[in-house]
Amino acid sequence: MKPANAVLSSYGTTIFEVMSLLARETGAINLGQGFPEGLEPADLIEAAARALTTGSNQYPPMLGLPELRRALADHSRRFYGLEVDWQKEVAVTSGATEALACVLFGLIEPGDEVVLIEPLYDSYLPIIRRAGGIPKLVRVEPPHWTLPRQALEEAFSERTKLLLLNSPMNPSGKVFDADELAFLAGLLERYDAYALCDEVYEHLVFGENRHIPLMTLPGMRRRCVRVGSAGKIFSLTGWKVGWTIACPELMTPIVKAHQFLTFTTPPNLQAAVAEGLAKDDAYYDGLRSGLARRRDLLAQGLEKIGFSVLPTQGSYFLNVDFRPLGFEGDDVAFCRHITTEAGVAAIPVSAFYQQSDVTHFARFCFAKSEEALEEAIARLARHFSRS
Ligand code: PMP
Repeated sequence: MKPANAVLSSYGTTIFEVMSLLARETGAINLGQGFPEGLEPADLIEAAARALTTGSNQYPPMLGLPELRRALADHSRRFYGLEVDWQKEVAVTSGATEALACVLFGLIEPGDEVVLIEPLYDSYLPIIRRAGGIPKLVRVEPPHWTLPRQALEEAFSERTKLLLLNSPMNPSGKVFDADELAFLAGLLERYDAYALCDEVYEHLVFGENRHIPLMTLPGMRRRCVRVGSAGKIFSLTGWKVGWTIACPELMTPIVKAHQFLTFTTPPNLQAAVAEGLAKDDAYYDGLRSGLARRRDLLAQGLEKIGFSVLPTQGSYFLNVDFRPLGFEGDDVAFCRHITTEAGVAAIPVSAFYQQSDVTHFARFCFAKSEEALEEAIARLARHFSRS
């Protein structure tokens, strides 16, 4: 047989799929893969069901239902003071994953360099490489996730087409602050580069931390593309309704990619998401406070067992250093071990790096029911008191 595409063939099955499969096989509580449980808004599910039976089930407009595009422009104004033209600057996609692919395929020319900050969400690199881009990786590392300014200065060059920035960041839980963003904006200006801003966790930010879209900084309006996901805002990851927001000049090539990748996204789900985005502040505050409560519950439980727990500023992930428990082995071995032996699945943090010497951190997702989190803590406590 003739060989398939070499870039994509070089990647194995994602760690999320591997750990979820192991969790299913062993009956473990799955705190690995980042999908929420028990947080889905019932009214949105009803709105989607209504739209399914009473609305159209044919191709919606390529850019998305007008009511959803209007709702996304309203959302940008309401939360960030960004004025967005819903007709020219918004496109609805099948999840943020498709939006990311559209931006990368739409903007990258073979040989363009793309600066990325590890740890990384797993779809970025294969798509960049498939588009002919050259990744330039810099890293933040646990426990402090400090922005490596010197390494970033060195990674940027005249060949840099874009920076891929994920804030709030998966899996680190880091939220980039105004000073870090201003530094990045300076590099974009200096090298005339764009930024692809993966902001899927925009509403999952805790305490004093604030999500600031890079696009809102001076000079950044036409350099940045914002990507979001209803999956995260409404805890409905299976819906795969995402979007991208950018100035018309950037939107044109992005939409070309969308036209040939999926063209559209189910209209009924789009209609429900449009309703959801208009929810009052109580919804958004409740989402944050509900998740902060779960984060604290899991953090306190894990600390009691003896893990060293890192703070989470944003996202629904919590990272722990498992060395205090005396486990001998790396993070991959640790995550397999607790899945099969304690009945709780987690994800090794090193899986988010191309190569990492730091292999003693595991990531837990806390967007689960409080009962599931309590049971997971009880299982881990039982296991580690025995071993
Ligand atoms: N970006 C990041 C950082 C993510 O964590 C995820 C989902 N886990 C996505 C993008 C993909 O979002 P969607 O499900 O809307 O495709």
